[in-house]
Amino acid sequence: MTITVTVIPGDGIGPDIVDSTVRILNQAGCGFRYEYADAGLTALEKHGELLPHSTLEAIKRNPVTLKGPLTTPVGEGFTSVNVSLRQQFKLYANVRPVISFKGTQARYDNVDILTVRENTEGMYSGIGQTVSDDGLEAEAVSRITRAGAERIVRFAYDLARREGRKKVTAVHKANILKSTSGLFLQVAREIAEQYPEIESNEMIVDAACMRLVMHPQEFDVIVTTNLFGDIISDLCAGLVGGLGMAPGANIGKDCAIFEAVHGSAPDIAGKNLANPSSVILASVQMLEYLGRHQEAQRIVDALAKVIAEGEHTTRDLGGTHGTTEFTEAVIAELG
Ligand code: ATP
Ligand code: MG
Repeated sequence: MTITVTVIPGDGIGPDIVDSTVRILNQAGCGFRYEYADAGLTALEKHGELLPHSTLEAIKRNPVTLKGPLTTPVGEGFTSVNVSLRQQFKLYANVRPVISFKGTQARYDNVDILTVRENTEGMYSGIGQTVSDDGLEAEAVSRITRAGAERIVRFAYDLARREGRKKVTAVHKANILKSTSGLFLQVAREIAEQYPEIESNEMIVDAACMRLVMHPQEFDVIVTTNLFGDIISDLCAGLVGGLGMAPGANIGKDCAIFEAVHGSAPDIAGKNLANPSSVILASVQMLEYLGRHQEAQRIVDALAKVIAEGEHTTRDLGGTHGTTEFTEAVIAELG
């Protein structure tokens, strides 16, 4: 059966790097059908809204969505398009893998970390955001539920089990944020007992950041709450050569959106400078989610080869080439 993928090219560098990825998926013989939809600034300009109804329907209709970065206009009362997509479709798990590729300018060459970030609760639940009338006080509510914590921790352990990973680290700040992080940690400990074959440990977020920078090889799977996951996954992207190498999957019960971790990079948009690897690797996550491991591996191998050779890579990888040349080299490698 042919699978239809909803494709949202998005804003800034989005259309270019999403197009690269679709070409690569086709070259790898994936045989997808694509249904294109608009979101973000592009949609606002074309249809007068950031998230048109037809786009939401397309995401709902098809099993997976591949999405470029979306810009939310600042200071005009818009809520982030990305955050609202995650909330509307209850995409509770944000999975952000980083792997070292030979040939990047990264500080380390043997990093392989999977950050599993809770995507709907915590500081991002959007509850109780107030600023007092005199502008002297601001508040926001952080909300963690037992059900939400259980769901994400279990997701992380199940993923670790499926992928044969050895260790899960729960990252928290329960010593200070006693209620919210406290509940998350307590739940993490309970779930850990149900997975005796996987090593479990826990780390306070500040200490985890230091250890990630100094000894990233000690980490395998990280599971954490929304805000910490946001920060830690960018830190991890930095360990493997920057945002151009960082994909992310947003996964819910019956819907999944695959995207780059970075934004629309307006500084390099339309200049044929963007590294498409983030979205290419997001499509690899998509293939794995669909159980198509061989195609996923073929694409990773081709990408790894082109980056290692360094003859056709983009500037952020130390090369001198554009998005198009890089993409064509990966396509040639796929044969
Ligand atoms: P947004 O507001 O959409 O998040 P931003 O200004 O925060 O955009 P990001 O897209 O988050 O920018 O990117 C941060 C920096 O990383 C920018 O300098 C950008 O050029 C660079 N960058 C991001 N993605 C890529 C990529 N795929 N290839 C090369 N450089 C990138
Ligand atoms: Mg950004």
